[in-house]
Formats: sequence, structure tokens, C-alpha cells
Amino acid sequence: MRDARPDDPGARRYARHHSLAGFGVTGQRRLAAARVLVVGAGGLGSPVISSLAGCGVGHLVVMDPDVVEISNLPRQLIHTEAAIGTAKVTSVQRAVAAQNSGVEVSALPERLSVTRALELVAEVDVVVDCTDSIEARYVLNDACVLLGVPLVWASIAQYAGQFGVVEPAVGPCYRCVFPDPQAVAGLATCEEAGVLGVLPGVLGAMQAVEVIKLCSGIGAPARDAIRLYDALGATMATLPVARDPECGVCGLEAGYFEGVAGLEGVDAPPGFADFGGSGGFGGLGAAGGPGADGRAAASGAVAEIGPQEWPDAGFVLVDVRNPDEVEAAPLPPWMTVGADETFVEPWAGGWNETTRASVHARVGERDVVLVCARGARSRAAAGVLGASASASAMEHAAASGREAASGQEATPGDDAAADGSSRRPGRILSVRGGLAAAS
Ligand SMILES: [Zn+2]
Repeated sequence: MRDARPDDPGARRYARHHSLAGFGVTGQRRLAAARVLVVGAGGLGSPVISSLAGCGVGHLVVMDPDVVEISNLPRQLIHTEAAIGTAKVTSVQRAVAAQNSGVEVSALPERLSVTRALELVAEVDVVVDCTDSIEARYVLNDACVLLGVPLVWASIAQYAGQFGVVEPAVGPCYRCVFPDPQAVAGLATCEEAGVLGVLPGVLGAMQAVEVIKLCSGIGAPARDAIRLYDALGATMATLPVARDPECGVCGLEAGYFEGVAGLEGVDAPPGFADFGGSGGFGGLGAAGGPGADGRAAASGAVAEIGPQEWPDAGFVLVDVRNPDEVEAAPLPPWMTVGADETFVEPWAGGWNETTRASVHARVGERDVVLVCARGARSRAAAGVLGASASASAMEHAAASGREAASGQEATPGDDAAADGSSRRPGRILSVRGGLAAAS
């Protein structure tokens, strides 16, 4: 950076990117603006983090609960002997600071949980699964599909590895290809079967390429095929994959929670012990929203309703079907008769932050009823709305605390109406079974 021009500190550093046809200054700016979540700072995480930091991805969020051990060093090349005994994320932070001071690293020395996956995935542009955990891969896949964020995954064992990209609503998700977690869980892990030290470097570098493509908008993501690399034969095979309309997660109506239930009975590997208890990922959008940590209690209740439990009045009906579905099958009049307002906000694989905020603003403090064709999409939408409602409630509670501390009166209970940003829905209700069951 000493040789940098003051008006463009990256000109010298990223000169080879700037002159790269199809990438250029625009591609570099996109990398600088990107936020990438890297789960796992071990064998795959090392090359991923080093490559992304070197290339100038602006913000890396790195999560790993472990400390550096001597047995890590043959393949986890970002860590050094001096880092043995320190948290891997701290070791990563120091390494990246030395490598590229323009890259910000958020270090999270913690285990991945369903709740954290939802919170973290919502805040990034791309997620990279660098864990050696089947459960983490399924949880990240589901969170990415739900929130519409691309996922770059890889797995390695012995002398071979594979990787792929999940682009929600565009290509197949991990469950489309591997619908049965139990079957995948039966495969040996690196710890059991061993792994050639250099192999994660190869697969991690390929993951980094995909992340850079996604962040900068160049090329075609590796989403329509799984790439299988065999180090002993020096071969790369391409296994075409397609979206499964019946997929438990991204198949829109195919029983999201039944698909998730496949995780039950899988023993959580060390470091990811909190995946099982609350029904795995099913806790996410089921009644109560992300209730594992009790946050949903801070906002209006999330529940499924049938015709008998329908609110009389004072609610907003949000139809989360696609416009063509809405046109093909209008809502029956009894559903809308008590509604203050009815509008369509298609789920289509997930709502982004803007969509969620707009639904919140439109619903205000009224009850909200979400409906789709068969109940899966509205249930997922209810979970997301419940989660963001509780976050909004917590922000508001914090703001009220500040007002009280500064001597201004803060009245518990009705303070939510004080400003629009902190309003949250009363009850969040999804229609059980959707139109198929209700009409
Ligand atoms: Zn799928």
C-alpha cells in the first residue's frame, strides 16, 4: 500500500484484475463491496479465506469454534505453529490483517446453530461451507434457500473431493441432489478416513473461484453440475444435476418440514451439538419461528390456522403465491371478507431484507395471515416474518432503554407505536394446508 496513489489505493494492488478483460475496475469494486460468510476455518477455509482476502473481497465473516492444533497444520495452511492453542478465527484475523489490511474480518469463535445460520446468512452476499459437517451443510443449504443467498459447498475425503454451488430459485439445492441426510451421514468423515493434506487446498481454491464469480458477476456458477475431483487419477468428472420439483426445501410446496425431519436421529458431530434439539431446521419456520432461543416470545405469536381459527377483522392477508398461481386460483371470498387489506408478495424461494421490511411496514401492528397453495411457503414466510419481527422488537426495546436512561418517559406496552420502524405485527398466522386444504 506504500506505493499506492492517494486517489486510488487499490490501483497498484489490483492492477492485474483491473486489466483483466471482463473483470476490470467494476469487478474489483464489486469484490470490495461483498460480504462473504465462511463457515469453518480449517482445511477448506484456509485457501478460501486466503484467496478471497488476497483478491480483495471487502468483508469476511469467519465462524469456527475450534482452536489451532498441531494436527491441523499439514492442510490448514492459514494457521502457523505460533497459533497453536489460539482460536482459529483469531489466527485467521491476524493472517488476513498481515496479508491485506483492506479486508475486514468478523471473527466468530462459535458453533453454527440454526438460529445463527439464519441471522448470519441474511447479512451476507455469499455463503461458503468449509465445514466437515453433514449437518452444517444441510442447515446452510436450507438457510440459503430460505433467504435466497448463494451457497458454495465442498466435501473431501481421502484422495477425492467434490464441490458445487446452490443458487436458490435458479438451480438445484443440496437437498435436490442429496435428499436423504441419513445416507450422506453414513459417509466417512476426514477424521475417520483420513485426507491427503493438499486436497482441501485444491477444493478450497475451486470454492474461492466460485465465490469470486458470484460476487463479481462474471462467468457461470457451477450450479448445474457437481464437480468430482480425483487426485490419484488426476481426473475431474462433471455430474449434471437438476432441480427436483419434489425437493423438500426448494420444491416450493413439497413439504419443507418433512424434508427437514430427515435430520432427526443423526448424531450431531462435535462442534455442532445444538442442531438436533428443537427439531433441527424445522424449528425455523414452524409455529413459534426460531423458537430455539425463545426470541419469538418477544413479538407476536407465530401459528398455523385453519378456517375455524380465522381472525374476524383487523388483519392483513398476504398471498405468497406467484402471480400466475394467483390468477389461476383466486382466493375464496371467505378468506378476505374480514381483511383490512389483501396483497400478493410471492415467496418464490425466499424474501430478501427489502421484501421483509416492506411487508412489515405494510402490515404495521395488525395481525398478518399468510396463504399459499399448500401451506409450505406461507409457513416458511411466517417463520421469517416472526424472526425479523422479534429482531425489530429487540431493537425497539434497546431504543426504549436509551430513552429511559436519558430521562425521557418510555411507556412499556404502547411504545411500539411511537415510530414506524419499530412496529411489528400482532399475530403472524399461516394457513395450514394452504388453499388446497382450506377451499
Ligand atoms: Zn432443492
